[in-house]
Amino acid sequence: MRRIASIFLILCAIVAAGLIGPGGDAKAQGKQGTTQDHAIQSEVQAAAKKYGVPEKLLLAMGYVNSRWEMPPVSPYKKGNPDARGTYGVMQLAQNPSQNTLGEAAKLTGISEKKLEMNRAANIRGAAAVLSRMQGKNKPSSVEGWYRTVAKYGGGSVYADQVFQTLEQGASTKTSSGEQVRISPQPGVKPQATYSPQSGSRADYRRARWYGTNGNNYTPANRPHDLKINKIVIHVTQSSWGSAINWFKDPRAQASAHYVIRSRDGFIGQSVREHNIAWHAGNWNYNQHSIGIEHEGYVNNPKWFTNAMYHSSARLVAHLCRKYHIPINRKHIIGHYQVPGSDHTDPGRYWNWHKYMRLIRHYAGAHHRKLVYQQIVDNSSSRFQASKHWGHSHWSKLRHGSGYRFARPKSVSDPAKFYMKVPRTARYAVYAWWPADSGYNSRAPIGVKTTSGFRWVHVNQRKNGGHWVRLGTFRMPKGKARRIMVSRWTSGKGLIIADAVMIRRYR
Ligand SMILES: [Zn+2]
Repeated sequence: MRRIASIFLILCAIVAAGLIGPGGDAKAQGKQGTTQDHAIQSEVQAAAKKYGVPEKLLLAMGYVNSRWEMPPVSPYKKGNPDARGTYGVMQLAQNPSQNTLGEAAKLTGISEKKLEMNRAANIRGAAAVLSRMQGKNKPSSVEGWYRTVAKYGGGSVYADQVFQTLEQGASTKTSSGEQVRISPQPGVKPQATYSPQSGSRADYRRARWYGTNGNNYTPANRPHDLKINKIVIHVTQSSWGSAINWFKDPRAQASAHYVIRSRDGFIGQSVREHNIAWHAGNWNYNQHSIGIEHEGYVNNPKWFTNAMYHSSARLVAHLCRKYHIPINRKHIIGHYQVPGSDHTDPGRYWNWHKYMRLIRHYAGAHHRKLVYQQIVDNSSSRFQASKHWGHSHWSKLRHGSGYRFARPKSVSDPAKFYMKVPRTARYAVYAWWPADSGYNSRAPIGVKTTSGFRWVHVNQRKNGGHWVRLGTFRMPKGKARRIMVSRWTSGKGLIIADAVMIRRYR
């Protein structure tokens, strides 16, 4: 037994020796697996000293990248936004755009495998790459490294995130019990050299528009050409800033519509909702969904902050309402639920129960159960209009096979939809029309309520091809309660009568 034990020890020693690359020293070996309060600090110190990179900068980068937790290895995969090909606490990269991993191996003499897996080696590799990018002149202050950090992280959005961390300070405790503290550096400011394209607003008013490269998504005209009926939840496996930068990179071949930051729930938009982002790794799912990335890693619950859950749930509630997506787990899904996906995100630490509850909360009344719905199209026997209303099927944005149109005139000649109202209650009323610049800018639609007809005016030059909510109305019980489209208006252009819908929620 003793002999076996000693052979085992010798083998271990050989294996350990083999792990130390030509450039590896005792510190780079690290003490993986042991709980050491100052291990990160000393690993950073050693790397900073050897390559002349500010220690604080490395600490802030590691914090932004990974909260100082070694992330799972994630090789680059085309069409998967959270498989960027980045490694370790310092996110050395190997993808069609960058090969800082390979470069680090060359500069340090440490193998790529070890740079991926060993924290101390990973830090050394990053320090070597940063030093090489900065060139011979090493600035005395950390501010002088801004452009280099931007280059390392694929753009200034990342650099701003690092410099904001330096400005505000940060502190975290890793799962192995190591404490990392970065004291605030009030003089260090994010430089915000990147400004979103002027005049470009995000589709969602709480988001900021960043955009993406034309190589990373498919233009479309959703929801007119393709229905949007799913939300896919992702986790970036990287910092927020590098995800935003990545989607702007012409070589990424991946994107998502929105990216949410962990610390404060801040939302960046990369792809327009009407376009198809490349996020699900499944063309059918991409076509019909909106992809939302959340900053963090599937193996570390710390990233999933309250601020992020709330901000994301509010966005999803808004999207569900906008595109009539039911709020349930069949329509709001994780990347792991996409057929053919080998991704696990958002992973086991994502609190679906809390998240769905928050979405329902933010969706307010709209999450309530639909108990009654009736749609009446102009082709139905429940529709009636005089001969002054012409027939057309010209616009592709129509509901059903055709629609009716009439010129505006100060006459009482409405098109009438007869609705079956099962009980006196409040109903949400919707109308559908194909939009065209030649249609009416102020088409009057009247709804029979318990206190007579209530009229709303709609702009039929816009919002064509989907249900537009006119409001909620208390409608009296009856087998043929009218919703009418009138010709009597000051608005110009043809008045359209296509389809209406009433809904009651409990
Ligand atoms: Zn994903």
